[in-house]
Parts: sequence; C-alpha cells; structure tokens
Amino acid sequence: MTSFPIIGAHVSIARGFSGAAARAHAIGAVALQMFSKSPHQWGSAKEDPEDVAKFVRYVDAYHIGPRYFHASYLLNLADEGRIGKASATTLVNELVLAPKLGVRGSVVHVGSWKGAEPDFDRLADVVRDILKKTPEEAMFIMENSGTRKIGVTLEDIGALAARVKSPRFKVCLDTCHLFTAGYDIRTKDALDAFIKKFEEIVGMERLELWHVNDSRDPFGSYRDRHENIGEGALGKEPFRILVNHSAMKEIPFVLETPGFDGGGPDKKNVEILNGLAR
Ligand SMILES: [Zn+2]
Ligand SMILES: [Zn+2]
Repeated sequence: MTSFPIIGAHVSIARGFSGAAARAHAIGAVALQMFSKSPHQWGSAKEDPEDVAKFVRYVDAYHIGPRYFHASYLLNLADEGRIGKASATTLVNELVLAPKLGVRGSVVHVGSWKGAEPDFDRLADVVRDILKKTPEEAMFIMENSGTRKIGVTLEDIGALAARVKSPRFKVCLDTCHLFTAGYDIRTKDALDAFIKKFEEIVGMERLELWHVNDSRDPFGSYRDRHENIGEGALGKEPFRILVNHSAMKEIPFVLETPGFDGGGPDKKNVEILNGLAR
C-alpha cells in the first residue's frame, strides 16, 4: 500500500546500489535517487550482478519506489564536439542499465549552449537518438535549472519536449532551482499560477518527480546551493503547500539536501517533510 506523499531521497552508492537502498530505508525514504557511478568522472557503471540482485531484493522488501538515476554532472548534450559525444554515450549506458535495477530513468541536467546559438532542433535530435538506443521503459527526465543553463525557463523545457515528441521525455522540477530562477512557488496562489503555466508550456503529463530542496540563495539569484528543508530562503511553508497539493498526490518528492550533519539527505529532512503532510 502506498501512502502519500511519497518522500524519497538521493542516496550514496559508496557501498554499492544495495548500500543505497539500505540507506534509503534507514532514513525512512520510500523513493530513491542515486548515481550509477561517480558523477564527476566519465565512464560507465561497472555492474556487479550480486549487488544488482541485492538492490532489487532490498527495494522490494523495503517498498522503495519509484527509483531514479541522477545522470553525471559532466554531461552537456548541447556540446557539438567530444564532450557531447561522451555525454550521449554515458547516458545511453546508464539508461540501458536502468531497467535491470527497476530504475525508471535518469534525471538529466541537459547542459548549456556555451556561447553557441541555442539550437533546440539539434539538441532534440541528440535526445531522440539516445531514446532510440535505449530500452522503451527507460525515461529521459530533464531537470529545470537554477542557473543560466538549458532548462532555466519553462520555455526551454517546452521547446525540447515539443521537438523530442516522446512519452519517454519527462521532467523533474527542483524547488530550489525554480526559486533562484525567478519562479515563485511560496504561496498557494503562486504555486497554482506556476502549475497553470507549466501545464500550458510543458504539460502536466510530463511531470515525473520533484526535487525538494530549500535554497541558500535568494529569489531570482540564479545560484544553485541547496539547503535543508526550512533552513533556507524558502522556509517550511512552501513545502507544506507543495506536498499537500492535490495535483501532486502521486508525484514523488526526492530530497537532495545537504543534511543536518552534512552527510546528504537524512532522516530529519524526511521527517520534516512527512510532518508537513496532512
Ligand atoms: Zn535537483
Ligand atoms: Zn541543484
């Protein structure tokens, strides 16, 4: 039985995928996100069949799902050279691995134009090629950006979604990124207005998950530094409104907060969010 809201967390794979599942369970998360390998290095995950089997057993026993990968921070799918090629290959390998772990897909920071003219047609071709090379059940999940990169506006996300034209193209909305990119979600009215805009420009059916993070930086600052829930410029109230919103009932909320002891999303952040739910 699923209870709402679905509060999840980004968890470390330092002790393998099974270690990540164990950590999620230990902090009370019922959904998880993890890297498939170090996010700061190129190359693909090494698959340990024993660890994969253990992960599948754990998430089943602990009822942890949905599950997501967060793609490498090095990726820039808009790059037209070597970096772009390596980015696509890395993501293809990750999305091929995903179904083996019962992972729904990868949350992706798409990249930046790096001075080049925005070319959504070319970028969409890159994404479509990645989808073509990967299992039908694996989702490409574009995350909104809090800094001036691709995805800082809903128009960016809508432009790519419209060109990729695939039900496998999904979206992750990060509360910290929306806030620093100048999208106000602090009151019920503001959130409703934002949801209406999202519906018009992107489409609610594309919303796969939320990243729930408070922000160390002010509204419209174009910075990206996460803070524990209630400890930042957003405060607790926007999260109370969000996790109780009727349109978000089945959408998972995944924490990427620094943690009260600095060790990443922790039990306290999960408990704060659960405490805000009615
Ligand atoms: Zn995020
Ligand atoms: Zn962030």
